[in-house]
Amino acid sequence: MQRKVLAEYRYDLKPIVRGYNKRTLYVNVGDKQIKEKPVSDMMIDKFVGGKGFDLYLMWHGVKDNTKWNDPENEICISFGPLCGNTSYPGSGKSIVTTISPLTGIPVDCNVGGHFGPYAKFAGFDALELQGKAEEDVIVYIDGDKGIVQILSAPDEAINSHILAEELHQEFAGEKGNLQHVSVVSTGEAANNVLITCLNFSFWDKRRKVARLKQAGRGGTGTVFRDKGIKALVVKYSGLKVDTNDPVDLPTLQKTGLKLHKEIEAGDDDQCRMHQVGTAHLMEIMNDYDLLPIRNFKYGQMPEAEGLHSREFTALFTQGMADGCWYGCSLSCCKAVDNFKPRTGPYKGQPVCVDGPEYETAAGCGSNIAIWNPKDVVEINFYCDTYGVDTISFGTSVAFAMECYENGILNKERTGGLDLSWGNADAALELLHQMARGEGFGVTVGQGVRRMKKLFVEQYGADPKFLQDIGMEAKGLEYSQYMSKESLAQQGGYTLALKGPQHDEAWLIFMDMVNNHIPTFKDKAEALHYFPMFRTWFGLQGCVNCPGTTSNQPIMPRLMNRPKFPNTCKTTWISTKLSPENPWISMN
Ligand code: SF4
Repeated sequence: MQRKVLAEYRYDLKPIVRGYNKRTLYVNVGDKQIKEKPVSDMMIDKFVGGKGFDLYLMWHGVKDNTKWNDPENEICISFGPLCGNTSYPGSGKSIVTTISPLTGIPVDCNVGGHFGPYAKFAGFDALELQGKAEEDVIVYIDGDKGIVQILSAPDEAINSHILAEELHQEFAGEKGNLQHVSVVSTGEAANNVLITCLNFSFWDKRRKVARLKQAGRGGTGTVFRDKGIKALVVKYSGLKVDTNDPVDLPTLQKTGLKLHKEIEAGDDDQCRMHQVGTAHLMEIMNDYDLLPIRNFKYGQMPEAEGLHSREFTALFTQGMADGCWYGCSLSCCKAVDNFKPRTGPYKGQPVCVDGPEYETAAGCGSNIAIWNPKDVVEINFYCDTYGVDTISFGTSVAFAMECYENGILNKERTGGLDLSWGNADAALELLHQMARGEGFGVTVGQGVRRMKKLFVEQYGADPKFLQDIGMEAKGLEYSQYMSKESLAQQGGYTLALKGPQHDEAWLIFMDMVNNHIPTFKDKAEALHYFPMFRTWFGLQGCVNCPGTTSNQPIMPRLMNRPKFPNTCKTTWISTKLSPENPWISMN
């Protein structure tokens, strides 16, 4: 494809020193300015990287009153000093921040795929995007040649499963390696609604498809499209085991080997991340009355057997290397191959669907009373390719369905859609409407907080009732756990700056399944130290899901189920964390 080069910047290629390039990349797609900014020792000492660098850049880039759709709102993507390490699992993460269209405050997402490591190895510790392009553009970083370009992008499809694949092919070139390219994109729904996400790709060599991992929460896709960005593309071909220049590679490799062995020995019995991914949580949450069902009304139902992880295991292609970055032996990124959607624009076409993860299975399954795993997979596929966040979609549709059950909505108000519990066709149609920018789907796609206001104003609904059933805080939809059963989990939701997401403290398992923190004091203490080390993951460029964080060998063990109580050989965290002592000591 012939593209116009709208702006170009050349930079010196130089090796990374101990995890840092000591420069960030600034791109303004409005005035076409591209430049590098230095990273000071102060930035490294105080903000480390990842989410810390993102927030530092945003602090200097936006004003007190910047709105999500102002040109000066930024999308920052930072990678952290450990990002790109290949010696042990969970080290290929990008952290995305922006001012959220849902909440009006900064939101952050932790996402896999190859973009983060490649952009870092291309020469930058973070990427800062600002401005609004008049016409759609692609921002391209060529990490082999040291060139950054803003390119015209008038013709491509927007939906991610097509766009990512096309751009992998185009930028790898005819004889190039598609694995050396990564793409960030969203989908058509991001032009029309707020509950959107960004998709970060990696090329799956065995499946021969671009796989998509999501920076899911807070409407990042909507900001991306508001800026007129169709995609970010990075190319980097020089990956080696020491590209990140670790200070002590032999120790790193020795530690990595130990972790791989622990995963091999324990994962099949404990977390089953390698076999099923996070979907293994479905039956555990149902057993312990923690699975959100019918808009968080119930925590357990016999029907949830239909969404047992064995159903997803049967759909996932096993035996594939399913890691979202090299070196991850957990390889939890499950996929359904040759899935043929029964609705929508890709009806009947075989596609590869990434997931479902637990939150997708719960949000787009049990929480809206859909019990057929194939319906969940179809919603998962369309959410991803349209750029919709599966968590906010599930919670928003659940809210609309409960409003329908209570007579606040009816067919006249939904444009003819029957939003009875479990109506998968209606849920899918809402999703297609979000992509087309029409119908009641666009209303649902504004999220729960805006629906509440609208239903009070337009339909005279009781605001107190809507406040009771509308599962959002700060404007962000709740993620998929029955937090009312767990004071510690609810505390974790409250601590997260962006709204009710469990990034900073995922305590429901310790609290309700393992009963490790039975007293009020235990819960308070956990809420003190968990956010410290989970934030640390996000600063370093590591995954922050406990089951997947073998960077901290204690974490998989925290997820031991009661039937394996004696597999927990590691002693409990023996050193309290503090800003002066941010390291976990274990014996
Ligand atoms: S554990 Fe899963 S999410 Fe984490 S790096 Fe491995 S494959 Fe990616």
